[in-house]
Amino acid sequence: MLRTPLLAAARSSACRKLVERTPVTRALVDRFVAGSTLEQALPKVAELSRDRYVTLDHLGEDTTDEAQAQNTVKAYTRLLEELGRAGLGGRAEVSVKLSAVGQFLPADGEKIALDNARAICEAAAAIGTTVTLDMEDHTTVDSTLSVLRELRTDFPWVGAVLQAYLYRTEADCRDLAGAGSRVRLCKGAYDEPASVAFRDKAEVDRSYVRCMKVLMNGEGYPMIASHDPRMVAIAQQLAATAGRSEDDYEHQMLYGIRDDEQERLAAEGRRMRVYVPYGTEWYGYYMRRLAERPANMLFFARSLVTR
Ligand code: FAD
Repeated sequence: MLRTPLLAAARSSACRKLVERTPVTRALVDRFVAGSTLEQALPKVAELSRDRYVTLDHLGEDTTDEAQAQNTVKAYTRLLEELGRAGLGGRAEVSVKLSAVGQFLPADGEKIALDNARAICEAAAAIGTTVTLDMEDHTTVDSTLSVLRELRTDFPWVGAVLQAYLYRTEADCRDLAGAGSRVRLCKGAYDEPASVAFRDKAEVDRSYVRCMKVLMNGEGYPMIASHDPRMVAIAQQLAATAGRSEDDYEHQMLYGIRDDEQERLAAEGRRMRVYVPYGTEWYGYYMRRLAERPANMLFFARSLVTR
């Protein structure tokens, strides 16, 4: 019930100002965001890297300013250099939202995003790590997959994210299940209309399982991004049936969510990667986390009332 208004609020600048100015917000955001700066995030990444893998997200999205898109590229380049210096290139990669590097700019947005993503891929290649392109709302999917195809000609290890709630995704999984491809499968975090997406949770879950089957039986590297214990268990069964070893696929979860389960999977010898966001542009990301779980919203509301 709260999901739709929260996801609408995630894109409202008035709500953004209200939430950002609320004094208690920062402490609540810290559960999901590893710090405002790279310096704050890096020790957490080093700690997580002891038993897990990491993908870092420099927070930001929906940029309509070219200078801001360039600043995002600089932030990723610095991040990758620091990961290299810290010897973390083998354990940590980066996740990039194309809308943060120019995809929505009015003139030549897709081309600018491609060039900017290419610069980030070059910095990743220099330290021997990979880049995954996050997936945003359904209006961006064709453009993002087209940028992915271009990037993969020079950087075949660039990964994609596919969202099981979209009707098209099972077919996209088939297209991207070839040798060398890396696909992160998630359920999907945006408020999508019934014309393009399943809106019922059980239907999304069924689609997720169908998509996992395609990826696990394909020749690429599936990245199972879900905290749902059923999806985690089914992924492991499908991987075993497909004859995949533990390093032939991975589980992924978000920073601050089901940390015990992350530790447990890593201790079992599974590949477990944590998505670690950092930066000051946390608003949209944080609101999507509230929308995923009503208990998070109640906790937020209670903090406002009792402060
Ligand atoms: P759900 O059925 O939503 O949740 C299962 C259980 O997980 C819940 O019962 C609860 O215990 C726990 N849980 C889930 N969410 C939360 C939360 N916010 N707070 C506390 N507990 C929670 N979506 C995109 O649209 N594009 C992306 O690029 C993208 N990248 C992602 C990358 C990673 C590594 C992960 C893990 C998710 C990503 N997502 C992305 C988000 C994803 O689409 C889902 O919205 C989110 O993961 C919740 O779905 P779930 O599979 O965990 O299952």
